[in-house]
This record gives sequence, structure tokens and C-alpha cells, in this order.
Amino acid sequence: MPKFYLTTAIDYSNGDPHLGHALEKVGADCIARYRRLRGEDVHFLMGMDEHSQAVLQAAEENGLDPQAWVDRMAVTFESYWRRLECSNDDWIRTTEPRHHRAVTALLEQIGQRSPDDLFVGEYEGLYCFGCEEFKQPSQIVNGHCVEHPTLELVPTKERNHFFRLSRYADRLLSLIRSGEFRVEPAIRRNEIVRLLEDGLQDISVSRNRQAWGIPFPGDKEQTVYVWFDALINYLSATGYPSESYTSRWPADLHVVGKGITRFHCVIWPAMLLSAGVALPREVWAHGYVQWEGAKMSKSAGTAVSLGEAIDRHGPDALRYFLLREVGFEADGNFTWDRFDERYTADLADGFGNLASRSLAMLAKFRDGKVPDSLEVTTLDQAGQSAVEAYASAMDALDLRGGAEAAWGLVGTANLYIQQVAPWALAKAGRDAELDAALAALARTLYRLAVLASPFLPGKALELWQTLGLPADGLGKAWTNLTAPPVAGLATKKPEVLFPKPPPI
Ligand SMILES: [Zn+2]
Repeated sequence: MPKFYLTTAIDYSNGDPHLGHALEKVGADCIARYRRLRGEDVHFLMGMDEHSQAVLQAAEENGLDPQAWVDRMAVTFESYWRRLECSNDDWIRTTEPRHHRAVTALLEQIGQRSPDDLFVGEYEGLYCFGCEEFKQPSQIVNGHCVEHPTLELVPTKERNHFFRLSRYADRLLSLIRSGEFRVEPAIRRNEIVRLLEDGLQDISVSRNRQAWGIPFPGDKEQTVYVWFDALINYLSATGYPSESYTSRWPADLHVVGKGITRFHCVIWPAMLLSAGVALPREVWAHGYVQWEGAKMSKSAGTAVSLGEAIDRHGPDALRYFLLREVGFEADGNFTWDRFDERYTADLADGFGNLASRSLAMLAKFRDGKVPDSLEVTTLDQAGQSAVEAYASAMDALDLRGGAEAAWGLVGTANLYIQQVAPWALAKAGRDAELDAALAALARTLYRLAVLASPFLPGKALELWQTLGLPADGLGKAWTNLTAPPVAGLATKKPEVLFPKPPPI
């Protein structure tokens, strides 16, 4: 069974999760679920970044010690990810001993394999506490960090340990150009290539006398820089430095936001090269969730709370909307109007209505039993094309394309019902034709339950069970999609999958 080790960025525990966090987790979860459907041995990691100064500050503002604060935040984040049906296999927190051990070990391994890569120096620069990063002139606009225009940059000068990042620009360029280390989508790869072509500067990898963090090995006065610490979580979760870590490592895919590609596509692979550890195979950088083309902002009243967005139409509808409409490749818009429109058109009137009409006709004309007709109809042909288009989109991480292929089949099936008019066939006593149409519709619902399951895990399973199929069969059904075995199934009375919401 091919292995697939997939990670998301770990989140700062200084405030509640928002829609941007949700897009990333739901997108990665959709990929994990699709890979499991294809029979891969998926290991899906999510977690929390708990050592930043912003976390320490949030803890102080809330009158808690930092460990108590991050314990509380971890519960909050996890409860949202459970509500959104994230199927992660592991949950790492950077305050855990296994992570502490891995950070110390990786720094020691760098020191042994590439002793020139770590050195002590003096750093002077402008520090952004939002990013936890010294900012280069190109990252500063009007005196502020591009990502944090409302925060003050803090002039900082201190003795630090440095990492000789400058050595790695050429090697990283050739690894990216050869495709050995993939950065996607292309727009993000091009940004990283330009950055590498300009050459790299050495970076500070410790901060002086910080109480909250991992002590720098061999130097009690210094704390490991929070980003250097955080990136290593992907390795910690494999059991590194114990030798068996290579049974999971390297990661097949890191899913991150477009704002942190420099860390994941430059600093992280350079650290691994320095330590002699294999590189991840691919980084996918998604865009941001916007409100009418602009960054969501609490003060402008355009910040949508994640809880409110889940409550609107349920978790499956939010997952679908984020991946189909907002998208996983570039910035995309979230508005309530558009969410409601998609919900009604694609889920209530589309997917849900197809399921309830088809099941109602099976109940009315055949007592709920799927007829034994193997005739390959035009609807089956459309179903097979949809499966192929879906697979090629999903393999390329084009989640929107995957959803489009599945929902294209929903539209075709609803048209098929209009054209074939099973009620007229029943009235005319044309039993063989009616059996063929009802069986084709049941096969289509089978295919759709499977294709939709990475997007709508809860509702897809509901549909699957209403077809009379056992819950544990859905995850193993991919290989049946050419000829779904539905003949003789005792389908159940359909429940409304996506109720029309009351007017808001
Ligand atoms: Zn910043």
C-alpha cells in the first residue's frame, strides 16, 4: 500500500480559529479522504504552534500561565476540527516532549553533519511579532509588515545563533527546477524561484533569554527561534530521532498558506539538507479567504466567525462551499449571499433533491428494492466520465475541479430523470425500461456518495446508508465505481439531506 504522509500548518494558539484556518484544514482533509479512497496508507497530521511570543502575550492578557493557556486553546481548536469532520490521524503540539526531543536532536544533527552551518553573531533588524520574524526591506510597506499593517515593527539587536541559509540557494533552485522538491501552484513556485535567484541571507535561529520556548542546545541563554522550532513538528510526529521515523518520513505533502512559503519552501528544506534528512516531496500553498476582495477584518465588520459559518447550513455545506467556491489555489471570496445561493442550488436543489427523488421513485414503484438491471445507460456513461474527470482533478490537488466533476453528474442525473420520466414508464407498464432507469439512478447515487465523501463526509455516508449499504463499505468502494453492485439493495425511506433553510 503506498504511503501518503500529509500535514497542515500548525496554528498559533493566540486566538480562536477563523475561516482561513478552516479552509486549510478542510482542504487537507479532503485530500486525505480522497487518498484513503484510492487505497493509500494515509497519515494525516494537524497541530498547534505553542511557543510564540504572541502566545505568551495572549496568556498574560488572559491572566493564565502559558501552558494553561495553550492547553485551553488546543481544546478550542480541536473542537472546531471535530465539528468540521477533520480525519487527522495525529495531533501534535509543540509543547509536547516528543517535539522538544526532535528539535534538540535536529539541531545537534545539523551541528554534527554541517558544523559551519551554525554560528554565533549579532543581529540587528526590524522584528514583526505577528509573523515572529525579522523583516527584510522588501517585506516592509509604509514602515509596516505586509502581513500585519497594524502592528509596529520592533527594532531589535541581540546576540543570536545563526543558520547559514545563504549556502543553500543554488541547491534549492536546482531541486525545485528538477521537480525533486515540488512547490505548487506555479504562481507560488515562481515567487520562491525569484527569491532564490536573488540569493539568501543567513538567518537568526535563536532569541536571547526567552522564558517560553525550547532552550538552544548547549547555550542556556538562548531559546530556539519559534519558526525553527515549529517547522520541525512535521518530523517530530514521525518519531524522529528514533530510527523508525523513515517509515513515515519524508512527508508527501505539506499544505500551508501562501504567506508562509518562505519558511516551508526555503528555510525548512535547507534545514533538512543541512541535517542530511530527506526533503518533503511537495508543498501546496493555498490562498486566503476574503470578504468581497479584501482581507476579512473585525474592525470593518467583515470578519465571519467560524462557529456562525458552521451553524448556517451545517459542517458539510461549509466544507463544500469553501472548496468549491472560495477555492484552494488562490484567494477567494466568502459572502453569506453566495454561500446561501450555493447551498440552495448545489446541495438542496441539486445533490439532495436528486437523492430524494430517486429514492422516492424506488420506494413508490419497486417497494424500495433496486431492480436487477445491468443495462449500461447514457447516465452510466456520464457517471464513468465523471469518475475519470474527478480522479484526474483530485490527483492534481484541483479540489474545485473534483467537486465540479461530481456535481456535473448531479446535473446530468436530474436531467435524465426529466427526460426518461420514470412515472410515465410506470403508468404505461413499460417495466423493463423502468427497471433500467431506476437501477441506473441507484448506481449514480452510489457513485455520487463515493465522489462526494471527501467533501461531504457526513451527508455522503447518510446517503450511502439510505441506499441500504453498510457504513464501513463506503471507504472501500472506489474500485466498484465502474459497475456499482446495487442490484437487490433494500433502500430506505429518504430523509431530506439538505433542508431548505427558513428565510434569514
Ligand atoms: Zn508580520
